[in-house]
Amino acid sequence: METKKVTDMQEIVSLSKRRGFIFQSSEIYGGLGSCWDYGPLGVELKRNVKDSWWKAMTYRDDIDGVDASILMHPMVWKASGHIDGFSDPLVDCKECKARFRADKVDVTAPCESCGAKDSYTEPRDFNLMFETTMGPVKDSGSTVYLRPETAQGIFTNFLNVQTTMRRKLPFGIAQIGKAFRNEITPGNFIFRTREFEQMEMQYFVKPGTQKEFMEKWKEIRFDWHIEQGLDPKKLRWHDHGEELAHYADLAFDIEYEFPIGWDEMEGIHSRTDFDLGKHAEFSGKNLNYVDQADGNKKYIPYVVETSVGCDRHILALLCDAYRVENPGTKEERTVLGFVPKMAPIKVAVLPLMKKEPLAQKARPLFEALQKKYKCEYDVAGNIGKRYRRQDEIGTPLCITIDFDTLEDEAVTIRDRDSMNQDRVKISEVESYILNKFGF
Ligand code: ATP
Repeated sequence: METKKVTDMQEIVSLSKRRGFIFQSSEIYGGLGSCWDYGPLGVELKRNVKDSWWKAMTYRDDIDGVDASILMHPMVWKASGHIDGFSDPLVDCKECKARFRADKVDVTAPCESCGAKDSYTEPRDFNLMFETTMGPVKDSGSTVYLRPETAQGIFTNFLNVQTTMRRKLPFGIAQIGKAFRNEITPGNFIFRTREFEQMEMQYFVKPGTQKEFMEKWKEIRFDWHIEQGLDPKKLRWHDHGEELAHYADLAFDIEYEFPIGWDEMEGIHSRTDFDLGKHAEFSGKNLNYVDQADGNKKYIPYVVETSVGCDRHILALLCDAYRVENPGTKEERTVLGFVPKMAPIKVAVLPLMKKEPLAQKARPLFEALQKKYKCEYDVAGNIGKRYRRQDEIGTPLCITIDFDTLEDEAVTIRDRDSMNQDRVKISEVESYILNKFGF
């Protein structure tokens, strides 16, 4: 069988819209640049991703979670270096006014947008933080920022968590939340947006041990992406080598091969004591850790962080899961081959016809399964079309109830990938599914 994988991001954009995964923000007003809304299926997928990450990262004995506010004291961003240094070099085309990140275009070549020669301005720094005003009157209110990363809400809570949870090093703090960056060149669907969600964990360690923990977290995080169903051949490491951010002493990215090429999906960084050290300095608070295991030595812990974009990971899942079987033939079939735990809908219950006796069997089964799994009940249209829809949204199992069900108390369960069908007693459906999914 011939199978075609995704080659053009547009295929993912149109499937996402057609099937209710992701819509353009404010679409009825013509949309808002690089802002996207998750629809009914997208929000399920996103919840699955967040749940999976949360379980992997916090259902352990050395990591606690927090949910910090998006707006923080402006001094946080002074201390972290974001007010002075969180900028990208920007160039404009003098002819067509298009803007580019100077580090992403060849500034010696003609303008990428209009082709004009020697038209780029000198690069200037453009701060990526969104500003807003806090307080009732715009003029007298104070400037606050929408956080450009979730990490700082963890650093500022380091002491709170350490003392309330009676933590000893090494331990971590995890968080999932929105971040905002006024990106110069957003785009490629949900790959780079101005509002996005990060899943971050900062692991606090004794200085000198960061390399060892870096190795450990690199392995854990790489494996997580594979367990999410991503093809290991489309994952690779990028070592930042000498090109490090001001706060880091080691940095690696997990890259995924998107239809636009290899690019970063997750960063694993050794952030040293930079952030806690700066917050101690700017806040005047003592953020030292007293190491009872080492003669009550006092020091600022080092940090190894893992930071993955939830939306970017979702884009990777959609691209990876997408396949068209037998393209261009009568048997053409588009499938999202999600692993069961990522599938937005786990089971579709499909009575062959709308007729009442079938509903009497199908409804109670649907209600029972719905208690455990997100299910869909669909009676509209011919069964072939209903299967195709479920294939396209990645539903692993479809259950049909037909007239034989009324006689034999059994249903047909169809597997999305093999399209094999099993006849299963209604009383055994739950254990059949448990066996297939493993949950
Ligand atoms: P880039 O070089 O692509 O701008 P970055 O190195 O600045 O990214 P980090 O600050 O390390 O990114 O952020 C961690 C993760 O957050 C990234 O790996 C990515 O998955 C996600 N991320 C960062 N910026 C965006 C964005 N504008 N839209 C969507 N996800 C983002």
